[in-house]
Amino acid sequence: TRTAPLTNTDVAALDTAHVFHSWSAQKTLNPLALAGGSGSTVWDHEGRTYLDFSSQLVNTNIGHQHPRLIGAIKEQLDILTTVAPSHANHTRAVAAQKILSHAPSTMDKVFFTNGGADANENAIRMARLHTGRDKVISRYRSYHGNTGAAIVATGDWRRIPNEYSRGHVHVFGPYLYRSEFWAETPEQEAERALQHLRRTVELEGPQSIAAMLLETVPGTAGILLPPPGYLEGVRALCDQHGIVLILDEVMAGFGRTGDWFALDAFNVRPDLITFAKGVNSGYVPVGGVIISEEISATFNDRVFPGGLTYSGHPLAAASVVASIEAFEQENIVENAARIGADHLEPGLKALAARHEFIGEVRGRGVFWALELVEDRTTRKPVNAGFMGKLKTELLNRGLLPFIADNRVHVVPPAVVTPEEVRQALAIYDDALTAVS
Ligand code: PLP
Repeated sequence: TRTAPLTNTDVAALDTAHVFHSWSAQKTLNPLALAGGSGSTVWDHEGRTYLDFSSQLVNTNIGHQHPRLIGAIKEQLDILTTVAPSHANHTRAVAAQKILSHAPSTMDKVFFTNGGADANENAIRMARLHTGRDKVISRYRSYHGNTGAAIVATGDWRRIPNEYSRGHVHVFGPYLYRSEFWAETPEQEAERALQHLRRTVELEGPQSIAAMLLETVPGTAGILLPPPGYLEGVRALCDQHGIVLILDEVMAGFGRTGDWFALDAFNVRPDLITFAKGVNSGYVPVGGVIISEEISATFNDRVFPGGLTYSGHPLAAASVVASIEAFEQENIVENAARIGADHLEPGLKALAARHEFIGEVRGRGVFWALELVEDRTTRKPVNAGFMGKLKTELLNRGLLPFIADNRVHVVPPAVVTPEEVRQALAIYDDALTAVS
């Protein structure tokens, strides 16, 4: 019966009255109401548009409303909208085949999940069962997801093979700008971070360590490209001790770094790769684990005690197939690489030359961070008040930013155009001037 068009205020009020939001104190919410989008642009209910340089949660790699994905989802809707994971489904099988065609040749199968967190849950489960060990080493500067307790709460037999003491150990990874190792060069940082990891493995007991779980390029933690030799050194350490190497490519994969997988830029072959986000840009929730031949073979005769009702959901699978085909035919990975090298890198470095409080510019492809500091010598991060003002200035100028701690992550869709990058750079420049 509603006749008046929706306003942003209507939508935000209805939302905050009924929707419980992630990672927030519910009384402090002030959500931006978004009504629609196309490519690298989104808009609200009152005709205001924004360049989406957040890619939402760094997941819309193919941009908003790509017609090929929309068409594939609609087509699948008329065929079969849901199917139990135990059945064979053609769309799901093709989705797995397509994902594997871009993964290292040592990879054998894909296990589908609903998103990134449960991809990591299942990768850890596979590593524990494969090795018969318990501990997992990961890094302080990382994000791997938000699940943890459901299988342990489960009462039936499925709990039993998953009852580990759940030892988790954290280490520092390389981050030269804020080195924990007093390093001055990337080589020193890689070597010393590896030495710290090696000593941790030795003191924890290599025989107790099932897996190392690393984001190939830590994303939310700051877009920290690993220095040459680091990932290769981690691989060698894993080989030495029979530890499973899990690379989390949930944020870094599918074009974000200008490669199909971020690991393609390094000489490293993981045992398990987790993915989500960019695989279908989140048009339908999906994630998964890409499994090596060796780990896959562990479960040839032995039951894999893991599963999800919507594993390989047909609508998600259809969107995965369409997304990968569009990436291939529209050279989207190549576009991300070119945008990074020819437009974002020089453009962001020019910004740093103009604005004293940009302490470091780092990244690759469409995966960049500006680290903002009060003082370039002490590298003291700018405070939350500064970042809040910057966010407002960016939004007021029509750019939807991704802000984490004292950083602006410049993470547009992989389909972004040079002209959109030019507009965004001008907005960052003006907004930085306004807050300085
Ligand atoms: N791993 C990484 C590297 C991520 O960035 C994220 C989400 O941001 C996750 C895992 C968790 O994914 P999801 O939110 O789909 O569970």
